[in-house]
Amino acid sequence: MNNCIFCRIIRGEIPSEKVFEDSRVVAFHDIMPKAPVHVLVLPKKHISSLTEVKKSDSDLLGEILVRLSDVARKLGIDRDGYKVVINNGEGSGQLVMHMHFHLLGGWARRVEGWKV
Ligand code: AMP
Ligand code: ZN
Repeated sequence: MNNCIFCRIIRGEIPSEKVFEDSRVVAFHDIMPKAPVHVLVLPKKHISSLTEVKKSDSDLLGEILVRLSDVARKLGIDRDGYKVVINNGEGSGQLVMHMHFHLLGGWARRVEGWKV
């Protein structure tokens, strides 16, 4: 068993507020949101960063983007627009070495204190 925090969330050892889950992909709310809506979308397979991605992961990566788009629609941030960010490697600010897509949006809800 690896000690990766996102693998532990996937195994149910650490609680999370999930918004999507199937056998290959999971999405849950970021614990320290940087936008009114901030969700992390990731493969259940442990891939540490984009650098480690292989050609054989192509389908999985496409699937993650489709699920991300579904989650944005489900949370009602698709019409106003959202950002998708991948931090890759420590120099970029990647803290959790299990590749994940940040889905950031919801500014149109004009929540006090949020900046673009
Ligand atoms: P990154 O800097 O790209 O590696 O992003 C890691 C993200 O994971 C940060 O935005 C953290 O706030 C978030 N995070 C860390 N621990 C948890 C957790 N237990 N549940 C949800 N999000 C988390
Ligand atoms: Zn992991």
